[in-house]
Amino acid sequence: MILNFSVSLCLCGEILPFAQLTSELEIRKAQGLLRSRRTLASPQAPHIIVDGKPYLAFCSNDYLGLANHPQLVAALQQGAQQWGVGAGAAHLVSGHFEPHHQLEQALAAFVGKSAALLFSTGYMANLGVVQALVGKGDTVFADKLNHASLNDAMLLSRADMKRYRHADMAHLEKLLAQAKSGRKLVITDAVFSMDGDIVPLPELLALCEKYDAWLYVDDAHGFAVLGGQGRGSLAHFGLDSPRIIYMATLGKAAGVSGAFVAAEQVVLDTLLNHARSYVYTTASPPALSLAVLQSLQLIEHGDSLRAHLQMLIEQLRVGLADLPWDLMPSHTAIQPLLIGENQQALQLSEGLRERGIWVAAIRPPTVPQGTARLRITLSAAHSEADVNQLIEDLRVLALEKA
Ligand SMILES: *Cc1c(COP(=O)(O)O)cnc(C)c1O
Repeated sequence: MILNFSVSLCLCGEILPFAQLTSELEIRKAQGLLRSRRTLASPQAPHIIVDGKPYLAFCSNDYLGLANHPQLVAALQQGAQQWGVGAGAAHLVSGHFEPHHQLEQALAAFVGKSAALLFSTGYMANLGVVQALVGKGDTVFADKLNHASLNDAMLLSRADMKRYRHADMAHLEKLLAQAKSGRKLVITDAVFSMDGDIVPLPELLALCEKYDAWLYVDDAHGFAVLGGQGRGSLAHFGLDSPRIIYMATLGKAAGVSGAFVAAEQVVLDTLLNHARSYVYTTASPPALSLAVLQSLQLIEHGDSLRAHLQMLIEQLRVGLADLPWDLMPSHTAIQPLLIGENQQALQLSEGLRERGIWVAAIRPPTVPQGTARLRITLSAAHSEADVNQLIEDLRVLALEKA
C-alpha cells in the first residue's frame, strides 16, 4: 500500500528513466520472468504459513531441518546474552571475537583442512576468494552451470575467463592446455544448485594437478549433507589436496548464516589481506558463530537425519518416475522437475500452490533458456507422508494437463 502511494506520488511514468524501468519490467512479465516475493509468517520448516494459509513447502535449502532447531535457537539466545547482538567492527579492526575464532578452528578440523576463515555470506566468500587469488594476466576456468556468485566473482577479478561445458572434463582440459602463463584457478559448484548433480571432483583434481591449477570448490549444497558425518563433498570422494580451496555456506543445511573458506594457511593469510569482501565489511554477530558451533554438533551426529533424507529422495524418484515431466538425474536433496517453458513451469507451480503445496518455479536467467523447472528440495524435516502428498498432487496435475 505504502509502496503504491509513493510510486504514484513520484509520477514515475512521466520521468524517462522510470518509464524505461517500467517497460523493462513489463517485458519481463510478458516473458513469464517477473520475480516477486512471498512473506512467511512462520519459521522455516516443511509446514509454513504464507498469506494466512498453511503450505507444505519443498523449496528451502534447510536440508537437515536445523534452521528452527530448538538447540540452535537456545545457542543463539545464550550467545546474544553473552556477546550482545552486533560485532560492531570488521574482523581486522575490533570485530573478531572468541566465538568466531572457535568456529574457524572447529570448521577447519571438521573438513580436514589446516585452517578456515569466516565470511558473512557465501556470495561474499566467492567474490573475495576469486578476486584475491587471481587478477589480470591470470585465468579462471568455470563450469557453465556454476552459481551466479562464482560468475560475478570471475568478472570482478579481471582475470581471463574460460567457461567449459557443464562437467565436461575434455573441454576443460583443452582450455587448460591453451592457457597463457599466469595463475590458473578452476572454480566449480560441488553440487550444482539448480540441477542437483555432483561434480566429478577426482577428475577435476587430476586435471588441476596436471596443469598446475588451483581448484576452488563451492560446497554450498554438499556441506553437512554429503560425506561421512556430513563432512561434505571432499569427504564424499575421499579427497584431500593442498591444491583444493574449499568453501561452504552456513545458511543452507547448517541452518544459520554465513560461509567459510578452508585451505592452506598461506591462502587464508592472502584472503585476510586481499579479499575485499572480507576486509571491508562488518563481522557477523558472534552469537551466530555459537549457533553454528551447535549446528556442527548436530551435523556430526546427524547420520539418521541424512539416512532419512536419502530415503525421501528415493521415495520421490520412484513416485514420480512415470510423470510427463522428468526428474533430472540427481541423487541429492535437489530434485528438479524439468518443464521447459517458463509459463508452463509457473502454471504447474501455481497449480500446486492452489493445492497447498509450495515449490518454486526456476526460470532463466537462473537456468538456461528452455529449461524452466520446478526445483523440488527435500529436507530431513519432511515426513514420508509429506512426500506422498507432493507425489499425489503432481500426479493429479499431470492428469489434468493430459
Ligand atoms: C547459495 C549459494 C551461494 C551463496 O551463499 P549465501 O550464503 O546464500 O550467500 C554460493 N554458492 C552456491 C553454489 C550457492 O548455492
